Amino acid sequence: MKAAAAGYIRANDLVHAISLLEQSRGEARILAGGQSLIASLNLRLAGETALIDINGVAELSGIELVGDRLRIGALTRHRELATSDLVARHVPAIAQAAPLIAHAAIRNRGTIGGSLAYADPAAELPACMLALDAEIVLRGPAGERRVRAGDFFIDLFTTDLAEDEMIVAVEVPVVVAGERQTTMELARRSGDYALAGIVLVDRPSGVRAAFFGVGPTPVLATAAMAAIDGGASADEAAELLADDLQPLDDVHAPAAVRLHLARVLLRRALAATRS
Ligand SMILES: Cc1cc2nc3c(=O)[nH]c(=O)nc-3n(C[C@H](O)[C@H](O)[C@H](O)COP(=O)(O)OP(=O)(O)OC[C@H]3O[C@@H](n4cnc5c(N)ncnc54)[C@H](O)[C@@H]3O)c2cc1C
Repeated sequence: MKAAAAGYIRANDLVHAISLLEQSRGEARILAGGQSLIASLNLRLAGETALIDINGVAELSGIELVGDRLRIGALTRHRELATSDLVARHVPAIAQAAPLIAHAAIRNRGTIGGSLAYADPAAELPACMLALDAEIVLRGPAGERRVRAGDFFIDLFTTDLAEDEMIVAVEVPVVVAGERQTTMELARRSGDYALAGIVLVDRPSGVRAAFFGVGPTPVLATAAMAAIDGGASADEAAELLADDLQPLDDVHAPAAVRLHLARVLLRRALAATRS
């Protein structure tokens, strides 16, 4: 089936993209990698909409170290995340997450901005942002706004983005001395969305564990985190995930299976960061 697009315009730069968004009054959608949006339009899951193509907007590209943060432009492709030396050195959790996303063809086109805006609860990058306590940098007609990842993902496929705003970048704290990070997931087949996944950031100041695929948004496992920081064993912390996670039953797996997988992942991730 052909996509139900009501129009297409290519933005020349960031100011142009934001002005097009403002003029559309919520009737247009940003087109980044198109890997989720075009599929939704083809399947008639998204209503007919005009497309604002941001692929020519140079200000949205690039990965750079800014002080103690890594700034990653919204148009950065999943493949670039998987192959960047800067990402591997400074935020290994993202370097480990990117190759787990879908298949090579999708990673060549899909972008970090698109993944965060789409906010699929089983996606790897939103959970990375939550575990790393990243800031999402937004731009709209009123200027720039920064939102902590913990406030950005509101519900299933729902974020704090206003209809006239777009994601321009994310800023992620870089790894500190003594810190270990790991991203792991369990999926039926390589490339499938995960049944459950974890991003564990094990800092000297405390542990942060964000799970994906086990609720309507990525979830910070606060009870398990507090227990680990208080000296609990991995098994004791894993038991507390029943308080932290509310997985849903669906066609892919019952809730009890997802909770079990999350427990397995927490034990494996702690073994990896503390070995
Ligand atoms: C078969 C298949 C398997 C997949 N498996 C996985 C997987 O395992 N894990 C995973 O994480 N993802 C998976 N994906 C999704 C993939 O990662 C997409 O690339 C991603 O979700 C969306 O990125 P995109 O750049 O393609 O965004 P698009 O499809 O272009 O856009 C998605 C949404 O985000 C909005 N948007 C895009 N960029 C911005 C921006 N800068 N500011 C504001 N809004 C914006 C769009 O308007 C649209 O609503 C899969 C996709 C397919 C087709």
